[in-house]
Amino acid sequence: MSKEENLECSFCGRRKSETNLLIAGIDAHICDRCIEQANGILEEEITENKASGLSKDVMLKKPLEIKEFLDQYIIGQTETKKSMSVAVYNHYKRLLQQKSDEDEVEIEKSNIILVGETGTGKTLVARTIAKMLNVPFSIVDATVLTQAGYVGEDVESILSRLLQAADYDVAKAERGIVFIDEIDKIARKGDNPSITRDVSGEGVQQALLKLLEGSVVNVAPKGGRKHPDQKFIEVNTKDILFIAGGAFSGIDRIISKRLNMQAVGYSASVSEDKIDEDNLLQYIIPSDLKAFGLIPEIIGRLPVLSYMNPLDEKTLRAILTEPKNSIIKQYIKLFAMDDIAFTIDNEALDYIVAKAVEYKLGARGLRSLCEAIFTDAMFELPSSEEKEFVVTKDYAENKLTKTALKRLSVAS
Ligand code: ADP
Repeated sequence: MSKEENLECSFCGRRKSETNLLIAGIDAHICDRCIEQANGILEEEITENKASGLSKDVMLKKPLEIKEFLDQYIIGQTETKKSMSVAVYNHYKRLLQQKSDEDEVEIEKSNIILVGETGTGKTLVARTIAKMLNVPFSIVDATVLTQAGYVGEDVESILSRLLQAADYDVAKAERGIVFIDEIDKIARKGDNPSITRDVSGEGVQQALLKLLEGSVVNVAPKGGRKHPDQKFIEVNTKDILFIAGGAFSGIDRIISKRLNMQAVGYSASVSEDKIDEDNLLQYIIPSDLKAFGLIPEIIGRLPVLSYMNPLDEKTLRAILTEPKNSIIKQYIKLFAMDDIAFTIDNEALDYIVAKAVEYKLGARGLRSLCEAIFTDAMFELPSSEEKEFVVTKDYAENKLTKTALKRLSVAS
C-alpha cells in the first residue's frame, strides 16, 4: 500500500480511499463526512444559544425599566407607555414559559392596538420597543393590503418585510415586532356589510386574523440574497408581536354616544364622574372598535388596547428638545461635525411650536419647520469661517416666510 493510501481520518478512522475528501491539518486529518457532522453540531449550538440569548436579554428588563427606556425617547403618553411595558414583558415571559415546561396554564399573546391621531407617536412607541429589545422590526400599511387574488399586496407580504429586516434569519424574524399602521382603514364600512361587496375591508381582516392568531405561513423571500432559489420560506407567526395603530377618526362620537347612554342608564352616579370631552379617546373600550367596524375576532386578537393623547403646545415644545435623539439635539450634532456651535434660544423654540400649532402641522411638522429655518445656514456655514450659529426668534421669523409656511401646511 502506498503512503498516501495509509492516511486516515483522525476522527472516524476511515481510510483515504473510503472518503471523498481528506483534509490534512498539522498532525491530523479530517474526512468530508466528519466535517459535515461537525458542522451540524455547530449549527445546532448556535441556534440554541440564539434562542436563549434573546430570552436572557429580555428578562433583564422589568416593566418599570421598559417604561424608563421609553421615557428617554417619548414625551408624555404615560398610560400607553405603561400598558405597552406590561404587554411586552408578558409577551417575552410567555416565550420563556413555552421553552421551559409543559405547564398547563398557557399564557396568551399580548398583541397591542393603539388608537390616536396621526403624528402622536404610535410608530415611535413600537419602533422604540423594538430598538430596546434588539429584535427585527417592520412597518406595514394596512391600506395596501388586499385579500389574496386582488390587486395589491397579500397579507403575507407583512412577513416578507420582517424577514428582510431580520436579514433572512427565520428564527430571529419569528420573534420580531410588526407594526400595522392604519388598521382603521380596513374597518367594515357601515353597519350592514351585505349591501356592498367589501373587497378591502372584512376580507383583509379575515386574512390578517390568521397571522395574529399564530400560524405557519409560506412567505416569498422578496429580494432575498441568501435564498435565491428558494420559492417560499416557512414563518411561524405565533411568537411575533403585532402592534396595530390607527387614527379611527370619528370614533370619539361612538365613545361619546356610549358614555351618554351609560350616564342615562346609571343616572347620577356616573354623571358625577366628570367626562373630559376634549379627550374622549381615554375612555375607549373594545366594543367601540367593533362599532367602528373591526370584526370581533380581530379585536380579540389585539387584547391590549391603549390610546395616544393629542399633542398640546407643552408636549410639542418638549418633543423639540427633550428626547434622547430630539430634533434640536440632531441639529446640534450636525453642526458640530463642521465645528460649528449651534444654539437656539427659548423664544425661537416657542415660535416654532406656535407655528406648528397655528398651521396644524403636529409633531411631524416640527422637523419641516426646523429644516425651513436652518437650511440656508446648513448650506452656507460649512464653507465659511463661521464657528457659531445662534438662532433667535427674529432669525426664525425671517426665514419662515409666509410662502414657506403655506408650502409646509399643504405638504402635511
Ligand atoms: P403616528 O405613528 O402616530 O402617526 P409617529 O410615531 O410617526 O406618529 O410620530 C411622528 C413623529 O413625531 C415622530 O417621528 C416623533 O419625532 C414625533 N413624536 C410624536 N409624538 C411624540 C412623543 N410623544 N414624543 C417624542 N416624539 C414624538
